[in-house]
Amino acid sequence: MQKLIIEARINEYMMREDGNENVPYSPDEITADAVAVREAGASIVHFHARKPDGAPEHDHEVYAQTVRQIRRASDILVHPTLGFVTLDASAETRIEHILRMAKDPEGAPHFAPMDTGSVNVDRFDPVAKRFTSNNLIYKNSTGTLHHFAREFRAAGLKPSLVCWNIGFTRFAQTLLDAGLVDKPAYLLFIMTDNEYIGGHPATPEGLRAHLDFLPKSGVEWSAAGFGGNLFRIAGSIIGAGGHISIGIGDYAYKELGYPTNAAVVREIVSIARQLGREIASPAETKQILGMK
Ligand code: ZN
Repeated sequence: MQKLIIEARINEYMMREDGNENVPYSPDEITADAVAVREAGASIVHFHARKPDGAPEHDHEVYAQTVRQIRRASDILVHPTLGFVTLDASAETRIEHILRMAKDPEGAPHFAPMDTGSVNVDRFDPVAKRFTSNNLIYKNSTGTLHHFAREFRAAGLKPSLVCWNIGFTRFAQTLLDAGLVDKPAYLLFIMTDNEYIGGHPATPEGLRAHLDFLPKSGVEWSAAGFGGNLFRIAGSIIGAGGHISIGIGDYAYKELGYPTNAAVVREIVSIARQLGREIASPAETKQILGMK
């Protein structure tokens, strides 16, 4: 079995007041967390640029500054987001900041995400039994995804193929079949719980459904728990040969006393060791994923 790739999902759009005070916002805080999760055992850091009050930051320069800082401070592989729930931005606009950074010799990221389908991402309040919004769509047309795949390949970026449900996983297969992404493809199952209902739940059944439709070859896969506790199935993921994507950006982990990102990563390392699986360094991660 391959060594375990741990990707730290350090902030997403998690607000500190919604739970975990350790969520990093500023480029300095994000860099400090990148260093800490690397020391804990992660080989990839995924981040969203944030304004000082935690709001989404779309400024190219903030992204560029953050990636440069991380790369100066650590050998961890860098995976910035495309940015936001895209209601109407064009395919070109959505990846402009990533392509600009890819040309920066001191600040090129290693990965770029593409969600291989569209999904409603409104939150459902399970207590009030109502949605807190009703128009948030993460929209990715086939043409947009083909554009992303071509541009990322030309820019030397490894796509993270983000799969919310089986339809996304099947679409990832079509990218492989069409030769639009290089093997092995890196798939990320976004498993969702509590107020997020767009993905499979982080249960053995939810995981198995994805795995039943996983392309038979040419794939490395990882799983994240958006809005829920991934530790419930972390052992199953690691035992099945998957990789782990985890962080307090996805879930505050109140039941663990609001840990830091590094603490969550250390816990995964400990589970992997108990199961006899070694941890991949950034260099080994590049090798496993066929990156230059
Ligand atoms: Zn993200």
